[in-house]
Amino acid sequence: MLAVVDSCWVHGVEGQPVRVEVKVQTGLPVFTVVGLPAGAVREGKERVFAALAQTGLPLPPRRITVNLAPADLPKSGSGFDLPIAVALLAALGHVPAAAATGALFVGELGLDGAVRPVRGAIALAMKCREEERGRLFLPQGNAREAAAVPGVEVVGLRSLSELIAILNGEAEPEPVRRHPPPAGRPAADLAEVRGQELAKRALAIAAAGGHSLLMSGPPGSGKTMLARRLPGILPPLADSESLEVTRVHSVAGLLAPGSPVRTDRPFRAPHHTISPGGLIGGGNPPRPGEITLAHLGVLFLDELPEFSRRVLETLRQPIESGQVRIARVRHTVAFPARFQLVAAMNPCPCGMAGDACICEDRDIARYRARLSGPLLDRIDLRIWLDAVPWDELEREAPAEGSAETRRRVIAARARQAARYGDAVALNASIPSARVTSVCRLDAGGSRLLSDAAQRFAMSARSIHRALRVARTIADLAGAEELRELDVAEALRLRALSQLARVG
Ligand SMILES: [Zn+2]
Repeated sequence: MLAVVDSCWVHGVEGQPVRVEVKVQTGLPVFTVVGLPAGAVREGKERVFAALAQTGLPLPPRRITVNLAPADLPKSGSGFDLPIAVALLAALGHVPAAAATGALFVGELGLDGAVRPVRGAIALAMKCREEERGRLFLPQGNAREAAAVPGVEVVGLRSLSELIAILNGEAEPEPVRRHPPPAGRPAADLAEVRGQELAKRALAIAAAGGHSLLMSGPPGSGKTMLARRLPGILPPLADSESLEVTRVHSVAGLLAPGSPVRTDRPFRAPHHTISPGGLIGGGNPPRPGEITLAHLGVLFLDELPEFSRRVLETLRQPIESGQVRIARVRHTVAFPARFQLVAAMNPCPCGMAGDACICEDRDIARYRARLSGPLLDRIDLRIWLDAVPWDELEREAPAEGSAETRRRVIAARARQAARYGDAVALNASIPSARVTSVCRLDAGGSRLLSDAAQRFAMSARSIHRALRVARTIADLAGAEELRELDVAEALRLRALSQLARVG
């Protein structure tokens, strides 16, 4: 008696199809699971036994073999309980095998026969759509999340007996309807930040062109407050992006109860004591790290020099490629990591800088030397913030709010999308070979850049970085060629004259 049921599990953040084959033979009663099951999958047989007994259909004393195909990847998670139970029921003739054909089954079983939620339901639903499966049977607790994926018929289950009744045609499945995604939480507004016009301008440029940003300034200059306002000026997530963000947070088990879909851009601010694994992802099976949780949002590293050098070095490759690959003995997992980096640092260990500073020169030098050169090199915008003077705090000047800044950011991104013919390509990632053709300078811009290049002995890489930033500044202004003022501002925002202060 052989039965086959299709299922799916989550590898990295991707759903992976699995075929669950069950063979029931006469012989000594043994229950074996083959096909590289990892911990929770192996333990599943105890839960399957108990759940089947609860439904009044206990397993006969036979020789039972379960194979999870393909067998090339070690499989983890508790979602195989349900498909194994269904395949057993089909093999024993308790449900018609044909009723299970074409659908995907995922779920953990409780000893009482309850069907319990699993992680990554949205990843499973996305795979279900890709594979053009009609139906996805999964725990009721995951149903709303999975139903966010259009084109998938989701059936939420509370218990194994409920599923048996459906497969036997004794009950009608109740497909879960799609709920409109909840409105994102209102993000903190730029208008609440007094003064710091340079920093607000840098944030708008960062958002428009996807540039990373380093803010250096004393405590109280509002670095964290400013960084937290970046998600609110980035364009709203498109529906497909919202699913991507939800998938990552679902796999990490971080979706807030009651909000099955994430519509806001993530903001992650890991502490400087974080390990490399915590930042880029790790463990076995590999779990997403902070850079993946910040996917399509903002990664904020406060007190950048306090992060270990080893940790900062791990960021270089993901910043370039937008993903991180984690290798394990038998497999490699790729996690998405397209995040916008914002970093902040104090000017010196005591943080006061200038006259009030009590640091020794060599301590300051050591502090700044902790920043990895190659990482610093990948940060397009580096600005210096001063504490906001009292009179500026008092002044009641109406500041531009996030909504207005966001409108300008969206317009600048539309110009980039038209230029690159790709909605996700941004100025920050123009390939070196294309920089000169894309960043055409007018006469004034050209003169200024060559002067600066000579005076500051800029490297070719450094010139390209300045050009990319100038491109974004011109895009914000709706200009086709890069003018002198665009180049001047780009150079100022690269803090060229203050490199000595920043490190
Ligand atoms: Zn100091």
